[in-house]
Amino acid sequence: METQSQVVDRLRSVFRTGITIPEQFRRTQLTKLMSMIKDNEELILKALHKDFAKPKFEAVISEVEIVTNELHYAIANLASWMKPEYVGKNLATKLDDCSVRREPLGVVLIIGPWNYPLQLLIAPMVGAIAAGNCVIIKPSEITAATDSLIAELIPKYLSQDCYAVVRGGAEDTKALLQNRFDHIFFTGSQSVARSILLAASVHLTPVTLELGGKSPCIIYGEVSIAAAARRLAWAKFFNAGQSCIAPDYVLCSLATRDALLPALREALEDFYGKEPQSSPDLCRIVSPRHWTRLMELLRRSSGRVVLGGESNEEDKYIAPTVVVDLAEDDALMEQEIFGPILPILTVDSLQKGIDFINCKEKPLALYVFSEESSVVNTVLENTYSGGFCSNDGIIHMTLPSLPFGGVGASGMGSYHGRWSFETFSHQRACMLRGWALERLNSLRYPPYTEDKLSWLRWTTSSKSSCSLM
Ligand code: NAD
Repeated sequence: METQSQVVDRLRSVFRTGITIPEQFRRTQLTKLMSMIKDNEELILKALHKDFAKPKFEAVISEVEIVTNELHYAIANLASWMKPEYVGKNLATKLDDCSVRREPLGVVLIIGPWNYPLQLLIAPMVGAIAAGNCVIIKPSEITAATDSLIAELIPKYLSQDCYAVVRGGAEDTKALLQNRFDHIFFTGSQSVARSILLAASVHLTPVTLELGGKSPCIIYGEVSIAAAARRLAWAKFFNAGQSCIAPDYVLCSLATRDALLPALREALEDFYGKEPQSSPDLCRIVSPRHWTRLMELLRRSSGRVVLGGESNEEDKYIAPTVVVDLAEDDALMEQEIFGPILPILTVDSLQKGIDFINCKEKPLALYVFSEESSVVNTVLENTYSGGFCSNDGIIHMTLPSLPFGGVGASGMGSYHGRWSFETFSHQRACMLRGWALERLNSLRYPPYTEDKLSWLRWTTSSKSSCSLM
C-alpha cells in the first residue's frame, strides 16, 4: 500500500504532466462526480443514517442536492470561469495584452468535518477540480460509514491518477500535513485550525479555514412571532443543531421572549410531535463523546430549561431544548453549542444586542428577525460576520452565487460557485508586450530628467487610459 507521501508525490508528478489543465478533462471529471452522487444516492443516504440517523429529507437537501447544485453550476460556468479576464489599461500599456489568467495551484488538500460529511468534502472538491488541481480529500473518521463509502466511490468514478482519498483521524492527518501542498482547505473547529495553520506555515502553504463559532440571532421590533419561531426552530434543530451556521443563541427583549416561547413550543410540536425521540425527522448526536459534552454544558448551565431537556445516552438523543434566564457568562455561552440547545438571552435595547455581539469574535453567520427594515439595516451596518441573513436561518448558504466563509475567528477565505473556483486558482497577472512604442519606453531609461518624469507620470496614470480615445 502507498504511504501518504507517496500519494502526494504521485499526484504532484501527475499534475506536472498538465493532464488536469484542459477544460474537457475537468468537465469529464465533474460529470463523473455527478454520476457518483446520482448512482449512489441510496447508499449515501443509508451511510448518513447509520452515522447519526440523519433524516432522509435533511440528507437530500443538505448533502446530495447542495453538491449536485454545485456540480451543475460549475459545469455550466466552467468555460466562462476559465476565460482570461481582460483588464483596463493606461497609455503606456495601450498596445499590450493585459489579463488575469486563472491557473490551478497544484496538489490541494481538503480536510472535512463530520457534521455534513459528504457536502463539506465534495462541494470544495468541485471547485478544486474545476480549477484544474490534483486533489486529496481527507474525510472525518467520526462519521465512519460515510467516510468509508466516499473512500470506496471516489476511485471508482474519478481519475485515480489525479484524485485520492486519504483516511484517518487526528494523528494520521497531522502526519499528512507534514507533506507540502499547494493549498489546504480545512473545515472544522477553531482549535484544530490552529494546528493546520502551524503545519501550513512550514511550507508557506496558503489555507482556507471554514470554522465555526457562536452565530447570534437578534429578534427585535415588530415581528411575526409564529413565522419567526418556525424559521428559527428549523434552522436551529436541523441536523440536531450540528450545523456551523445554526443560530447559536437568541437575543431579544423580555416581551419578545415571552411571546416567542409558546410559538416555539407549537412549532416544535408541529415538527417533531409530542415525543420528539420517536420522530424520524430528528437527527442524533454524532457520538457518545459529543453527547456527553452537550449534556455537560446543560448540567453546568444556570439557566432554566423551558422546552425539551430530555435525553437518552444510549440513543445519543437530546430533545430540542430551549433555555432562558441565563447570565452572559453561562456555560452555554462559553463555546459554540453545536447541538439542539437554544439559549435565549434578553437585552433592553437593539443597541445592547449589537454591543453584545460586537464584544465577541466575529461570527460565521448573523441573523436578524424583524419586520422593520430599519432594524435589519441597523444590525447589518453595525456588526461584522461571515454571512448575514434576515428573517431566516441557514438559507443564505444555499445560493451558489454568494460566497460562503467566515471572517476573523470564524474563518478565512470562502467558497461555493465561482468563489470555489477562485479559491483553488491562482490569479496570474499577465502582460504580453510587443516591441512597439520604443520611443515611449525611452521615457523610463536614464539619463533621468524632470521632463521625462512628468511625461511618465501622465502615461501611467489612470487618466491617460482614455485620453487618446
Ligand atoms: P474537527 O476540527 O474536530 O475535525 C475536522 C477534521 O480535522 C477532521 O477530518 C479530523 O479528522 C481532523 N482533525 C482532528 N484533529 C486534528 C488534528 N489535531 N490535526 C489535524 N487534523 C485533525 O471538527 P469537527 O468536530 O469535525 O467539526 C465541527 C466543527 O467544524 C465546528 O466547530 C463547526 O462549527 C465547524 N464547521 C464549520 C463549517 C464551515 O463551513 N465553516 C462547516 C461545518 C463545521
